[in-house]
Amino acid sequence: MLGEIRGEVRFKEPLSFHTSLRIGGAADIFVVPQDVDDIRHALLFAEREQLPVEVIGGGNNLLVRDRGVRGVAIKLAGCLGRAEFHGEEALAGAGASLSALIREAAALNLGGIECLVGIPATIGGALAMNAGTEDGWIGDFVSAVYFLYPDGTLGEFKPTEGSFSYRQFHHPDGATLIGCRLQLHRRPQPEIQKDIKARLKQKKATQPMALASAGCVWKNPAGDSAGRLIEKVGLKGKRLNGAEISSKHANFIVNRGGANAVDVAALMDMTRERVHHQFGIVLEPEIRIMGE
Ligand SMILES: Cc1cc2nc3c(=O)[nH]c(=O)nc-3n(C[C@H](O)[C@H](O)[C@H](O)COP(=O)(O)OP(=O)(O)OC[C@H]3O[C@@H](n4cnc5c(N)ncnc54)[C@H](O)[C@@H]3O)c2cc1C
Repeated sequence: MLGEIRGEVRFKEPLSFHTSLRIGGAADIFVVPQDVDDIRHALLFAEREQLPVEVIGGGNNLLVRDRGVRGVAIKLAGCLGRAEFHGEEALAGAGASLSALIREAAALNLGGIECLVGIPATIGGALAMNAGTEDGWIGDFVSAVYFLYPDGTLGEFKPTEGSFSYRQFHHPDGATLIGCRLQLHRRPQPEIQKDIKARLKQKKATQPMALASAGCVWKNPAGDSAGRLIEKVGLKGKRLNGAEISSKHANFIVNRGGANAVDVAALMDMTRERVHHQFGIVLEPEIRIMGE
């Protein structure tokens, strides 16, 4: 089955090459599929060999542990990378880049989704994380999601109220998301471009965009901001080997070079303990943690 894959199959592939944090041990079997059939072959192989499967999009919200990922890691960035537009609807593959989709939509005077600009993501990763900001979440635009069950059969999911929540998409267990339909709306291109520019400027001013990170580490607790709490407990700028709680935005941990997952995990433990001790609030990770 692995032999039938037309894309790439690599063994012991360092996942630090595939995460925005530049951290992560090797995946035993690493598949870069070329199409849906390739994804199916990888899933069926894993099912037959009883191996766990991890799906990776752009790797922008991941902390992969230092001993890596057992089983099969399927990387979808670049695969299923197209978006088509029909009227005010976009049909996007899971590996398409979110920012490319926003740009292509804007060129057709289609907007709404520009509130997600500056979020590094594949469409699949954005769906899985319900990526967004207080101004809008990808779930607000989704009318259908297409996915594969672990046995390779195709599924369609029509979101209803509650399908998407804060940083979560409640999809069927073990689903590999392969695409979706997004409902956009007509908006003059100059207005969209103006909005995009303002949002990117704001992001650049407040987030450490130039350094390796995985975005926000923690979910914001109800009515508060994790960054504010971390600053209050005096951890902004705290460094452990190459890992640092960003001095620009305390909810980011950046890799200043040579950081390992254990360093990031130790900073996270320290943060969780201090915030709990001082405020009685248990922070919940936003980043997804993978591997051993
Ligand atoms: C500088 C920076 C700024 C950021 N700003 C924001 C922000 O403002 N708002 C925000 O929401 N996020 C932000 N993020 C986090 C990140 O961009 C988002 O979470 C994004 O949605 C991750 O997409 P990805 O394709 O990289 O997914 P990955 O990080 O590869 O994966 C994230 C999760 O989704 C799962 N997944 C990915 N693809 C699939 C698929 N096809 N099928 C099933 N599961 C899948 C993975 O298994 C994993 O659990 C930021 C990150 C960085 C580095």
